[in-house]
Amino acid sequence: LSGDDEHLSSTDKEIEKALRPLSFDDFTGQHKIVENLKIFVLAAKRRQEPLDHVLLHGPPGLGKTTLSNIIANELNAGIKITSGPVLDKPSDLAGLLTNLEEGDVLFIDEIHRLNPIVEEYLYSAMEDFRIDIMLDSGPNARSVQISLSPFTLIGATTRSGLLTSPLRARFGINSRLEYYDAKLLTDIVIRSASILQTPINDIAAFEIARRSRGTPRIANMLLRRTRDFAEIKGNGTITLDIAKFALNALDVDENGLDEMDNRILMTIIEKFKGGPVGLSTIATACGEEAETIEEVYEPFLIQEGYLKRTARGRMATELAYKHLKIKPNFGGET
Ligand code: ADP
Repeated sequence: LSGDDEHLSSTDKEIEKALRPLSFDDFTGQHKIVENLKIFVLAAKRRQEPLDHVLLHGPPGLGKTTLSNIIANELNAGIKITSGPVLDKPSDLAGLLTNLEEGDVLFIDEIHRLNPIVEEYLYSAMEDFRIDIMLDSGPNARSVQISLSPFTLIGATTRSGLLTSPLRARFGINSRLEYYDAKLLTDIVIRSASILQTPINDIAAFEIARRSRGTPRIANMLLRRTRDFAEIKGNGTITLDIAKFALNALDVDENGLDEMDNRILMTIIEKFKGGPVGLSTIATACGEEAETIEEVYEPFLIQEGYLKRTARGRMATELAYKHLKIKPNFGGET
């Protein structure tokens, strides 16, 4: 069960597109961020200036790409979409930048993975809307300055800790997306079901929502799979029974944790007696990068009360033991 787009089939991708909210008012949750963005967009439009550069950070699937598209829509601007690893050479970036029209949005996903040389070029582009390109090399080398149409860069990252400080400093707007609670996700599931023309009971929507790891992308994916069960095993309506049957058949965790969430908790409990244990030790034992654990997995586990951060390291909580059906052995007695 992954939050990635990459594993979706092409029909799934089309459906995902159809489910994407197109305006601020269509976008559920992240209330504070959306309210602020609305003001900044209005102010920029009134002054007929490009919107300040925006950095959106937070775990995958929470709506960073969706919000970026909405911002461009609300600005009545065009949007060009790319990602950090794709921009290999400065000329890749220059090609994109010189094709932007005034006020356009350039969206760079995974901006923490930019090649450092490309990143350097971005600085003057963001600050002064110009780039200096080197022509020739050796004794004939000379640089020409190209001015760009004023634009808005929206950078998205799951790993804000990996952003260099010069890059971070060039974003005037900096927002962190939070996990969604089950109530908000229920609204999203109901909205998506109506777009898919699938009847669904409120309690069934809530069951899908609460098992979606706080993530709209996962909620929509589980809704699509549950719909398959409803059509084949039921009469097309997603009822609570159908939802439970489908989610169990799909091996979706009772509380919406994914495989790595469970592995992290299990490792802390089984290998380190519940902690406290340091992040890098957990990372090695789980075969995952420490930064990913810190920025992608931990926030959810802490928010849901499965994990605690202490001065001496991470500890599994009583809830984690209960969830994994392991008896705590805190005092050493059996
Ligand atoms: P990210 O860029 O953060 O990985 P996306 O913007 O691609 O996440 O969102 C993943 C999917 O979740 C999208 O297809 C979108 O339909 C849905 N989604 C995300 N946020 C919301 C929201 N607030 N309301 C409704 N649907 C959402």
